Parts: sequence; C-alpha cells; structure tokens
Amino acid sequence: MDPRVQQFMAMIKAKNPGENEFHQAVQEVAESLIPFIEDNPKYKHAKILERIAEPERTIIFRVPWLDDKGEIQINRGFRIEMNSAIGPYKGGLRFHPTVNMGILKFLAFEQVFKNSLTTLPMGGGKGGSDFDPKGKSDNEVMRFCQSFMTELFRHIGADTDVPAGDIGVGGREIGFLFGQYKRLKNEFTGVLTGKGIEWGGSLIRPEATGYGATYFAQEMLSTRGESLKGKTVCISGSGNVAQYAIEKVTDMGGKAVTSSDSDGFIYDPKGIDKDKLAFIMELKNVKRGRIKEYAEKYGVEYFEAKRPWGIKCDVAMPNATQNEINGDEAKTLVKNGCICVSEGANMPSTPEAVEVFINAAILFGPGKAANAGGVATSGLEMTQNSMRLPWSRTEVDEKLHTIMKNIHSTCVKYGTKENGFINYIDGANIGGFVKVANAMIAQGVV
Ligand code: NDP
Repeated sequence: MDPRVQQFMAMIKAKNPGENEFHQAVQEVAESLIPFIEDNPKYKHAKILERIAEPERTIIFRVPWLDDKGEIQINRGFRIEMNSAIGPYKGGLRFHPTVNMGILKFLAFEQVFKNSLTTLPMGGGKGGSDFDPKGKSDNEVMRFCQSFMTELFRHIGADTDVPAGDIGVGGREIGFLFGQYKRLKNEFTGVLTGKGIEWGGSLIRPEATGYGATYFAQEMLSTRGESLKGKTVCISGSGNVAQYAIEKVTDMGGKAVTSSDSDGFIYDPKGIDKDKLAFIMELKNVKRGRIKEYAEKYGVEYFEAKRPWGIKCDVAMPNATQNEINGDEAKTLVKNGCICVSEGANMPSTPEAVEVFINAAILFGPGKAANAGGVATSGLEMTQNSMRLPWSRTEVDEKLHTIMKNIHSTCVKYGTKENGFINYIDGANIGGFVKVANAMIAQGVV
C-alpha cells in the first residue's frame, strides 16, 4: 500500500475504531485521491480529505414502540449528516438488524461523492435503524416509523436534510414517516423523497436505481463496441433495485437469469421475463415472501444459502448489499467470461473482488457511479416539489438517462489511464471529489 494511504488510514482507524465498512470505503477513496491531491496541493493545504472523512454531525437516538402484543420494543435510530458543502444532506434510511454506526458512515461517505457526480445540488447523509421490518405487521411498522420520526423530525427539513429509502425502507415506510413528519411540523414539504405519486412523489423514482445501473452498464459496454443486447445478466437481490434492473435489462435486449434474497437464489436459464418479474414484485412488495417461491412456481433451480456468482454470465449486477462478491467469486465470474460489473448496491464487491476485476481489466462500475440514478431522481423529485409541478414519466426518464451518461463521461474524463483503460473507481472518486472540495475551500474553515 502507498505509505501516504497507510498513514492516512492509521489515523482514520484510530479515530473510528471497529467501523470496518467505513474504513473500507474511505481507503478505496483515499487510494484514488491521495495521488491526485499531491498533484493539486490546494486540497492538501485545506486538509480536505481529513475534513471530508469526518461527519459534520451524527445523531443517535432511542426509538421505543409497542408491538402487536402490547410489549415495549426498543431500537436505535441514527442520522449521519456527512457533508453539506454543495446542498442539503441527502441520502437514504436503512432499516435492517445489521445497521450500526460503521455501516451508516460508509454509506454517508459514499453518498457525498455520488451526489456530487449527479451534478445536482445535494450534500451527503445516511441514516436508519437496527429495526427489522421482516415479519412485522403493517401496524407495527407504522408505530415504529412514527416513533422514529418523532425524534428525527427536529433534525431534517426540505432545505436541511432530505432522507429517502434504502434496504428495508420502501414506499410503505416513506408513507408512514412522511405522515408523522407532516403531523409534527404542520407542513407539507419535500422533506422525504420516494413519496407516493399522489402526494408529491416523482414518476420513475422507484425505477431509478435499477434503470440507472442498467444504463450505466450499457454506457460502459459501448466503450468496447458492445451492448446489453443478447447478453446474459446475473442479478442479486429481489428488492427495489434488483426488480427494476431486471425490467430494464430485459427492455434493452438482455436476459436476466438470477434473483436472490438473504436465504438463497433462483436460476432461471430462460430469463426472468415481464410476467415472472410481476410475480417477484407481488411476492416481495405485497406478500413479503421468499424468493424460493419463484422456484416452486416456475420449476427452476433454487440454491439455498448461496449467491449467484457461480452462474455463467456476460454481465453481473450485484443489487443486494455490501460485500456480497468476494475475491473467489470475482475470479469465478471472470473465468466464466463476465466482462462487465455494474454495482446497483453500495460497495457490494470486497476490496479483493475489486482487485480481481481491475487486474482482469473488465468494465467495473462502482456503486457511487452506477447506482447514482436513485439519488439523482430523488433530486428531480425535490425540484418538482419546489416548483409544485410534476414532470411526465418520459421527461424524468430522459433526465435520468442523460444524468447517467454524464456520470459515465465524468468517470471517463478522470479515470482514463495512459494505456486507455478506464478505471471507473478513480474516475468516480476524483470526479465526485473536485466539486465538493472546491465548495469547501470557498466556504472557509467550517
Ligand atoms: P430492498 O430492501 O428493496 O432489497 C434488498 C434486497 O437485498 C433484498 O432482496 C434482500 O433480501 C437482499 N439483502 C439485504 N441484505 C442482505 C444480506 N445481508 N445478504 C443477502 N441479501 C441481502 O433494498 P434496495 O433494493 O433499495 O437496496 C439494495 C442495495 O442497493 C443496497 O445496497 C442499497 O444501499 C443500494 N441502493 C439503493 C438505492 C435505492 O434507491 N433504493 C439507491 C442506491 C443504492 P431479504 O429480503 O432476504 O432481506
């Protein structure tokens, strides 16, 4: 490791003990940025890297609620307000039992760069709770959301901090959270994104992350004269991002052959077509069942407690969670002919996996670029809320597509090496950094 990165990481680890995912995310960025900062000393003198890795504010709070049996349950709520140099804090809320400070700080840190890449005026933040919505009734989820917002409302606002969804937080949760915010503040504002279409939401927001990651894959493939048409695509996850990635891959002429949840994955060699996708959506969004039921319904193979990366494919789209492709799985993907990885999830590839992809010189689109379509469309939702004027589906989709193309161009601009290889990690890290860093310098020591 570059000794400058090593020294910087020693400081980060000492200041943030035990926060492994945060260390991982910061190190990846530091590896791209430290050489760039050496060449641009104004960022070094202003200690931008040291400042950008320290949240502006972290909030931790108790979330007590009553379950259906009348018993008191206690969860922990968080909001990390990471950076507001270029706009109000913006980033999702995650409800999952694994949620802790280290995971949310990694997500908030990534969000700063991602939001900058979209070119929209959004700072970075992230939040959530160790609450597990799985197995809870709608009423329990509502009571939890109301209690969570009863504290969070005093820290957020349309011009301060605008949360959205993430793992475990979809349309249902955003509805309950928004209802409670409105009640407490007596204000109908764009304080959350991912709202329902009848009450301030944007068309295409639910689709945006999956569509965007697919557009990004297409842009990467086009640099090698390829396209998604006729390609076999392995997808993990069966939630929001995975569902719309499957839809867009199919629309663009590709064949999505896998889908997973935390229990295992299904392999459908004929491809997950529109009807089968409708089944997954009903299963996951309404019945809240397990992906195994797909295998039972369509008579395909189900692999218990396995991830889909052993299946032969041209393109891989990890759309479930962090660190879901390890070094060995990355080697298998490359050996089986995978030429492109577009990360719909945040940091789904471990550092060892990333190294395999880069050494094999395949197209590797890191999450902060490839999945930025979600937050970009949240930014478009904020614009529509401010104007109090909704755009059509086509208008939003065209804007999303243009933003993804522009993010790709930024990565090419900052990530192209002397031999012509595009390192999208460097491209996204440096491209996202410059705007935030310049704004921080302009705003003084704050
Ligand atoms: P959902 O909650 O809708 O879906 C998550 C999916 O991933 C589910 O299939 C879930 O399975 C699976 N999953 C979750 N945790 C694990 C785990 N530890 N191991 C294996 N599988 C797991 O979330 P989203 O689709 O919204 O988010 C997926 C990823 O995309 C996350 O990394 C998120 O940060 C990222 N992302 C999301 C954006 C958005 O707009 N929603 C924007 C940008 C990034 P199960 O049902 O069994 O839990």
